[in-house]
Amino acid sequence: MHELMEVRRGIEVSGIVQGVGFRPYVYRLATERRLAGRIRNTPAGVDIEIQGDVQAVEDFVARITAEAPPLARVTEVRVRDLPCNGDRGFQIVESILGGAVHTLISPDVAICGDCLRELFDPGDRRYLYPFINCTNCGPRFTIMRDLPYDRALTSMATFPMCPECQREYDDPLDRRFHAQPNACWRCGPHVELWGAAGPKVDTTDSIAESAARLRDGSVVAVKGLGGFHLAVDATNQRAVEKLRQRKRRVGKPFAVMVRDLATAERFCEVDATARALLQQVQRPIVILPRRPDCTVPEAVAPGHRDLGLFLPYTPLHHLLFAAGGFTALVMTSANLSEEPIAIVNEEAAWRLQGIADWFLVHNREILLRCDDSVMRVSAGRSRQLRRSRGYVPAPILLAEELPRVLAVGGELKNTICLTDGRHAFLSQHIGDLENLESHRFFEEAVEHLRRVLEIEPRTIAHDLHPDYFSTRWALEQDGMCKVGVQHHHAHVASCMAENGLTGKVIGLALDGTGYGSDGHIWGGEVLLADYLDFERVAHIEYVPMPGGTAAIREPWRMAVSHLAHHFGGEAQRICAPLIRRGRESDVKLILRMLERGVNSPLTSSCGRLFDAVAALVGLREQVDYEAQAAIELEMIARDSTETRGYDFAIIEHGDHLIIGTRPMFEELLRDTERHIAASTISRRFHLGLVQVFTEIVIRLRARTGLDRVCLSGGTFQNLLLFERLVARLEAVGLRVFTHSEVPAGDGGISLGQAVIAAHRSSGT
Ligand code: ZN
Ligand code: ZN
Ligand code: FE
Repeated sequence: MHELMEVRRGIEVSGIVQGVGFRPYVYRLATERRLAGRIRNTPAGVDIEIQGDVQAVEDFVARITAEAPPLARVTEVRVRDLPCNGDRGFQIVESILGGAVHTLISPDVAICGDCLRELFDPGDRRYLYPFINCTNCGPRFTIMRDLPYDRALTSMATFPMCPECQREYDDPLDRRFHAQPNACWRCGPHVELWGAAGPKVDTTDSIAESAARLRDGSVVAVKGLGGFHLAVDATNQRAVEKLRQRKRRVGKPFAVMVRDLATAERFCEVDATARALLQQVQRPIVILPRRPDCTVPEAVAPGHRDLGLFLPYTPLHHLLFAAGGFTALVMTSANLSEEPIAIVNEEAAWRLQGIADWFLVHNREILLRCDDSVMRVSAGRSRQLRRSRGYVPAPILLAEELPRVLAVGGELKNTICLTDGRHAFLSQHIGDLENLESHRFFEEAVEHLRRVLEIEPRTIAHDLHPDYFSTRWALEQDGMCKVGVQHHHAHVASCMAENGLTGKVIGLALDGTGYGSDGHIWGGEVLLADYLDFERVAHIEYVPMPGGTAAIREPWRMAVSHLAHHFGGEAQRICAPLIRRGRESDVKLILRMLERGVNSPLTSSCGRLFDAVAALVGLREQVDYEAQAAIELEMIARDSTETRGYDFAIIEHGDHLIIGTRPMFEELLRDTERHIAASTISRRFHLGLVQVFTEIVIRLRARTGLDRVCLSGGTFQNLLLFERLVARLEAVGLRVFTHSEVPAGDGGISLGQAVIAAHRSSGT
């Protein structure tokens, strides 16, 4: 006779298991199998005790991860034996508070299919309610004050639930069981429409009213998940131009929210990978090639052949599109130029004076700003350009356990990073640390991330640039061990960490600006690197940057500098293409500046080399935003089918290689004299870079035996260069590692800083 053998097991589950419907899932699993016991949230995740027939208990343990709810991400399950007791039935019991918190927090995600159906169901009690959500969807990170993730510690604390919402919240079998932002028309937050001067607009339907203003071509500030957006009808050219003028944003592209996937496919080429990306619960902005018949006006993304599209992700977005009259809205972060995105109603109304005509606000507080994430697809893989809403604070999984480190990132596109064990937590996009508002946001982000992750690091990693805000901030922190990390070493280490590499690699770090160990401005670097140290084995030859940062804003200065460097007294004559455009006196001034070496720091930057070429082919003499000239140079290269690249020189100084640009410029100037198309010149320049970097890597492999290459730095956002170089390197048998989850640009360097500092501080 089969004897029923009873056992009791304790199961600790860690990962993203709170606020994602994990306990009701476990409850159902247990009650279906008639198992006894209990589950509770703990600072480390969830703790389950389960008792019953040994077969049923084992089956239960196996299923915990197998069919977990969509937002759950289990990283570890630990099982222990316990003595049986008299338990009958399964219970969800009170959370344990305090102690060291190791649980992972879910990012903010898009409304789920069930909630969307209820939103538009006239029979549902939440019909058209803009804050509908459940355990499978809605805000998390941005409404969270502290751990554990319980309503009292979120910005929903000020909305006591009505009896009906409370019943759902308490019912383990309900989709809204312990859904912390659970709310309805009776008890939850509400929207209001405000005029530009502040007063509330008297209307029974603020959303329909907002939609009407958008149809009229007005600029409406819309409060979202991680901050305010400025919205205009994306197909209304005058409205788009008005927004550009008011926001003082000349050329930088705006993101466009489209009503649905069909609209996205009418505007852009959407392949299978991009389609999946657009529909992910994170709802990133996806950069896609425009279709020739795209009806979105040029003013949305001047000079660009791509558009950044994303799908609606909050119930409020869906309601705006349903109220209708438009299929696409420009939805750009509500700020002035590079300041942080606005999150507080009054602050938004004040800061956006003269920009927004109307404000669609609500009274659910955003506790932490979080911009939209931006991605693209290349070589069949999705690539993060800006990793923020929807992805933060989910960790990057590391290959090895690391001590706790805070890394404070660079100056532009700043993010910070906290490591703990095998997890690296990258912050949301903090932005350019060039004004007081972003300094405050930086400090808030550090404080908030440290608190909700309960990580108290003793080591702090920073850039070598002495004047960066992040460096100065790091050096002011008392009682911390400080580790300075070179910018391009951080880029390469970031790529290594993301790919779980250990040991030594060949690293290509190409970007605009990074402070070098010799005090010059680096940016065209080939390193032999591991997590402890690096050797700079090759770089683009140094040229002066006349006027320092002015040379970044005015690419023609770099053209003059390169020509003067190579052709000396001849430069004046060779600069003719520039002079023809009325720059004669400017060129003379720069040549004098270079002669005397006034305010002309040396740079090996790859980005500045792109600038010089862009200016020489007559593409752009001034930029409105970082890397604009380089982006436009890549765009025009798409028109050419040229297969031959310009020559670069490889100059040997012992073991050190210098990439000489003189042969390239000689050929380029001959091409401009012969009126060769700019698209052809651009393509030859790109292909030349691919050749010379491939040649250098091949030489390094021969010298060192290393065959792993890491590509990092903002220049690799250039798809032509990136895809060609990957293909060439792989064709000669190298193993190429690239970024996907972490941005290749400066948004990714905090990860590299953190892993380097962690290894240095532990001496391994
Ligand atoms: Zn839902
Ligand atoms: Zn309610
Ligand atoms: Fe960089």
